[in-house]
Amino acid sequence: MKVAIVKERRPFERRVAASPDTVKQMAGLGLDVAVETGAGEGAFFADAAYQAAGATIVADAASALDGADVVLKVQRPLLGKGAQLNELKLMKKGAALVGLLSPLEHPADVQAYAKAGIAAMAMELVPRITRAQTMDALSSQANLAGYKAALDAAAEFGRALPMMMTAAGTIKAARVLVMGAGVAGLQAIATAKRLGAVVFATDVRAAAKEQVESLGANFISVDEEAAKSAETTGGYAREMGEDYQRRQRQVMTDALRRIDIVICTALIPGRRAPILLTGEMLAALAPGSVVADIAVESGGNVEGSKPEETVITQGGVKIIGYANAPAHIPVDASLLYARNLSAFLALLVDQDKGLRIDTSDEIVKAALLTLDGAVVNPALAPPSPAAPTPATS
Ligand code: NAD
Repeated sequence: MKVAIVKERRPFERRVAASPDTVKQMAGLGLDVAVETGAGEGAFFADAAYQAAGATIVADAASALDGADVVLKVQRPLLGKGAQLNELKLMKKGAALVGLLSPLEHPADVQAYAKAGIAAMAMELVPRITRAQTMDALSSQANLAGYKAALDAAAEFGRALPMMMTAAGTIKAARVLVMGAGVAGLQAIATAKRLGAVVFATDVRAAAKEQVESLGANFISVDEEAAKSAETTGGYAREMGEDYQRRQRQVMTDALRRIDIVICTALIPGRRAPILLTGEMLAALAPGSVVADIAVESGGNVEGSKPEETVITQGGVKIIGYANAPAHIPVDASLLYARNLSAFLALLVDQDKGLRIDTSDEIVKAALLTLDGAVVNPALAPPSPAAPTPATS
């Protein structure tokens, strides 16, 4: 069975879908791994390291994808728009494609996978159950993104973070606010604490309070009653109503007057990220404050944030936009993501080392988008007119 690893060609991407370590694991499973030359460059994995681990280095994407049974990707394949390469066209019918395919955001691409006869699987849809923990790419990537955002915000800040008592005077500890205390937010809190800041955090989900406090940060509650029903059965946040948002803006504007750095990580799966900081709220921050918006790729939590740009507002606030936050720490992000993929791949390899898409496996079933020419994932299939509206979960 042939596994293909190609260079990621989408803007702002530096990660790669295999590391020398996972190539070794795949070769150990008896798989033939073809790596496009330079695929690991952004993450500093040299061709020679892949080769030493057992991969064959090939000259281009076409050679890697040619006849491959499994294609491992970071981002969704290019579909040949404009002058783009058409990676999908280079894949053989029946091949399995596994990656962070953003299916809810790009349903037309999913239709294209079905049309091409590809069995596409989205790592974002791997359920967060115990057996799938090693495959949880959302967590492995968000954790690093939160860490890097806290460091980058600190580096852009013109002051120190810890309190320091020096002969020349005392430096006050910086005050950091983390908005959205999921995986990325909790790591941002832990990192800012380690840097010596006084940390505050907020989230719509009631469960976040205890997690925030266990890290030694202060939780800012917006509406305790609304928070009780803000979490879906899957553990994600619901989109909150206008009343909640108005109250959140009020509470946060008051808090912002005493904050130096804000790290925004709030996401709602499949939806535009909620705006948590409006232009008016940014004006409550003192000049020299820094805001890091990890959610910018999903529309942004901060009004005026721009992908991969640092914008300075009229009030002197720096807003750092992360088009692809995990790609800012490409080595570790690739190492962990490659391990997530290799754990998932083990589910697709049968005893005879062939490809087997076992739809009775709940992990494979949840991640599977397309099979045998059809879109099979209920999260994407159009609802039948007779079916009742499903509860948001
Ligand atoms: P996410 O990336 O979807 O969102 C980030 C955070 O933003 C979440 O905490 C969310 O509640 C928050 N948010 C959304 N809208 C908001 C708003 N308007 N204001 C403030 N905050 C807002 O979330 P995630 O990091 O993927 O985590 C989602 C859940 O999954 C959490 O409950 C987490 O503990 C859980 N989780 C479970 C496992 C597991 O069991 N294996 C693994 C990882 C995460």
